[in-house]
Amino acid sequence: MPAPQFDAFFNAVTAALGPEAVNRSEETLTRYGENTMPGGDKRPAGVVYPTSTADVQVIVRAANVHKVPLYPVSTGNNIGLGSRSANSAGQVVVDLGHKMNRILEIDERLAFCVIEPGVSYQTMHDELVRRGDKLMVDVTSGPPQGGMIGNALDKGAGYTPYFDHFGSACGMEVVLGNGEILRTGDGSLDQETLSNWHTSKYSFGPILDGLFAQSNFGIVTKMGLWLSPKPPVVQSFHFAFPEDDDLEEIIELIRPMKMSNYVPTLFRVANDVYLCGTEGESPEYRASNGKKSFSDEGRRALRDSVGLGAWTVSGAFYGPNAAAVEPMIQRVRDHFGRSGKARYIPHEEAAKIAPLEVAINAFSGRPSLGELGLLKWRPGGGNTWFLPGTPMDGKVANEFQKVCRKIYEDHGMDYMVMNVCSARFARGLHVMTFNREDEDERKRADQCYLKMADELAKRGVFVGRAPVDYHDKHFGQTMPAFQQACNAIKQALDPNGIIAPGRYGMK
Ligand SMILES: Cc1cc2nc3c(=O)[nH]c(=O)nc-3n(C[C@H](O)[C@H](O)[C@H](O)COP(=O)(O)OP(=O)(O)OC[C@H]3O[C@@H](n4cnc5c(N)ncnc54)[C@H](O)[C@@H]3O)c2cc1C
Repeated sequence: MPAPQFDAFFNAVTAALGPEAVNRSEETLTRYGENTMPGGDKRPAGVVYPTSTADVQVIVRAANVHKVPLYPVSTGNNIGLGSRSANSAGQVVVDLGHKMNRILEIDERLAFCVIEPGVSYQTMHDELVRRGDKLMVDVTSGPPQGGMIGNALDKGAGYTPYFDHFGSACGMEVVLGNGEILRTGDGSLDQETLSNWHTSKYSFGPILDGLFAQSNFGIVTKMGLWLSPKPPVVQSFHFAFPEDDDLEEIIELIRPMKMSNYVPTLFRVANDVYLCGTEGESPEYRASNGKKSFSDEGRRALRDSVGLGAWTVSGAFYGPNAAAVEPMIQRVRDHFGRSGKARYIPHEEAAKIAPLEVAINAFSGRPSLGELGLLKWRPGGGNTWFLPGTPMDGKVANEFQKVCRKIYEDHGMDYMVMNVCSARFARGLHVMTFNREDEDERKRADQCYLKMADELAKRGVFVGRAPVDYHDKHFGQTMPAFQQACNAIKQALDPNGIIAPGRYGMK
């Protein structure tokens, strides 16, 4: 690609959209480059703020003329995966959410919304409450200001029956790399009036929506997303298991409950450090200066102090009132009670244990800040996530646990993980918090990630989402035909390669 002509690009955008559409101040460039990754901050060349789809087209066309790389973000809260920073320094961040942040429609009867990229979980939650609390949005347990579009495009997920955020997306408007506007799904009908754009997922022809998840083929400017009816009562249940190896039995107990969809939520199976890690700095960090993993004795003491297990299992039922839900809870209690070692924690008790309150909020469609406490488990602000998964087979899941725990320990990291279980598969949310200001610790976090990526790949396990620092690494793990297909699509939709070069490995 020829050298980018940044000044000419920013002049063209300023002339077309006004000076307030461009920001190149020192303070802004520093702020937008910041992230929590081991690889360091990635300072952009500037930030642009479109107010409409037409503005996005202007920006994309100017970028094509002047060969300038654009990195779109919706709200830029992708913490632990890159925040607002691009795959490499020197790209221009297109901050869509700053001005394109309107809820365009909420259809209360058909339970969907149509939104611009800046609409966050908190905004949607508050608007639904304002409208009478009849609908529920599936939220993450991450930042409440995270955007519904950015999260869905990065294949993020929550915990209610509408956990699959990309799966709940229905109908997108996209500005392609060549500046053309594409409507996906039923919106592809060449008409002004569209009746089923946000209600029918599978329309005529190929399903193009998937091309815009974890890719760099276009900039999504509008999306339909499905909401669910708000249940009058959310009643959670929790079970604390005492030993690390209990994971095998836990997975076996959960599988039938999810396979039949008896339990409507996903199961959160979080280890002691994941749950207790939200509540303050590791009590052992300073003693070893971050060189050693948190000890088994330390873990035991910490989890005992709050009444949690080596693993704590959480799920919830929905119903018209507490009495209607009670027999369902009883059945789950009987089921888990068979293990003989699970301590049952009822909803009312769990609501007073801060890390379990996070789970209750997530099952209830309430954004909350509690889990962000994980970022302070070690000082220095480093945080990256490794996101593989396991089939819902207890032996396999426990084997993966042993492999990953050992790799964390070999690198002096604290093994912090939550398995989010559906019927056949559990995503393993592996958190790494590290002191980003300590060179040795930063390197160990990086090596720990790479080692896990290699070891799990050898066992046939891939990641479902990746931090920007590791997009090239994971793209390199894919088969040649996959790479060729992705690159051919990139060439067709973004021939000058101006959108997010390097994102998910595609240049
Ligand atoms: C403690 C903690 C807990 C977390 N829990 C969860 C969780 O439960 N579930 C979960 O999914 N995540 C979780 N996360 C990860 C992350 O913070 C959230 O997923 C967050 O919502 C993502 O940021 P965003 O929504 O602002 O997306 P953005 O940062 O706006 O977007 C993410 C990426 O998608 C691409 N993109 C965004 N918008 C567009 C667009 N319009 N067109 C084209 N490409 C675009 C960009 O490359 C961007 O970098 C957690 C993080 C932390 C630190």
